[in-house]
Amino acid sequence: LIVGVPRETFAGEKRVATVPEVVEKLIKLGFRVAVESGAGVQANLDDDAYRAAGAEIVDSTAQLWNQADIVFKVRGPNDEEVGLLREGGTLVSFIWPAQNPDLMQKLAAKKATVLAIDALPRQLSRAQKMDALTSQAGVAGYRAVVEAANAFGRFFNGQITAAGKVPPAKVFIAGAGVAGLAAIGTAANLGAIVRANDTRAEVADQVKSLGGEFVKVDYEEDGSGGGGYAKVMSEGFQQAQREMYAQQAREVDIIITTALIPGKPAPKLITADMVKSMKPGSVIVDMAAEQGGNCELTVPGEAVVRHGVTIVGYTDLVSRLARQSSTLYATNLFRLTEELCKTKDGQINVNFEDDAIRGLTVIKEGEITWPAPAPKIP
Ligand code: NAD
Repeated sequence: LIVGVPRETFAGEKRVATVPEVVEKLIKLGFRVAVESGAGVQANLDDDAYRAAGAEIVDSTAQLWNQADIVFKVRGPNDEEVGLLREGGTLVSFIWPAQNPDLMQKLAAKKATVLAIDALPRQLSRAQKMDALTSQAGVAGYRAVVEAANAFGRFFNGQITAAGKVPPAKVFIAGAGVAGLAAIGTAANLGAIVRANDTRAEVADQVKSLGGEFVKVDYEEDGSGGGGYAKVMSEGFQQAQREMYAQQAREVDIIITTALIPGKPAPKLITADMVKSMKPGSVIVDMAAEQGGNCELTVPGEAVVRHGVTIVGYTDLVSRLARQSSTLYATNLFRLTEELCKTKDGQINVNFEDDAIRGLTVIKEGEITWPAPAPKIP
């Protein structure tokens, strides 16, 4: 079969769904790989690099879609791309079926088979190698710290130099899921003093193992809402949490917020008053900007200065590290392809007996199969 990789068309999207290292592996599994000319340019991957790895470079978008048996994409397709998808073709990309019912109907009408990488049952340990939400959140968490360091006027690490003593920067991370943990590790590696808070008490040990201090809210309530995700907290907890965050805002130089609750707007954790209380030159990176922001003063997509504090609300952190995020995403898709092609003969079998495959198959040959029944945890 032919795996086709089109150029991403979503504004500002710099990732590409495969990279030359992975092209070679797909060919070893028995597939042919066709890549649209220029697909990797924004991730510093030119056509020659793909060609050297054995890919066929296709100039025409329509031809690429038409010849592909399986399309690998990052972003879900727009209307034009759905039109280009071959009748009965297979698509692997982010889809977010709950948020995109129209797209689901249009893909079903194409008799497509659609594997939504965001619908992977993440709780299966076997699925971790295919978990693109985790790989991309890790990149975003790293990049958030890089953005913070870039906007901050001092070192992260403490130094004793002939020119004087420099104190280490203090960093507070709100939300210690995948992105938050990556940010903790990165900031600690740069030498900052790192503190973090999450409503799920279970993450405290992970925070410590990455070199951070877990700061607890003085209120007895756990935030686990099932599946490793958070729930909306009680008024009492939120009040106690605001008091603790207000104190951190006065003390630290940098705040990175990552708090999300599935299906809800991002919780507002950093108020305008807290921003006002921060030292001039402090930085906030709001990784929840796209979901409404954890900080009241965030402007999604922009970096703004309010009360002397730089508030970074970029919504394209993964695209700002496109070579890295593309490589990890491509590897996640390769691991998935291995599961689909146990026979190593360039054919795929969308096997519904396999919990991981069942979970991410949201449409099979035109029939909507989402949501999948809960997987049996081994
Ligand atoms: P996410 O992006 O939905 O949430 C980010 C973090 O924000 C979470 O840790 C959440 O608890 C926290 N949060 C929510 N509201 C908050 C508030 N008011 N104050 C402070 N923090 C708040 O989650 P994610 O990072 O995609 O994943 C969350 C968890 O899912 C992981 O940490 C992990 O436990 C689980 N997970 C498990 C596996 C696996 O089992 N293999 C794989 C991936 C993720």
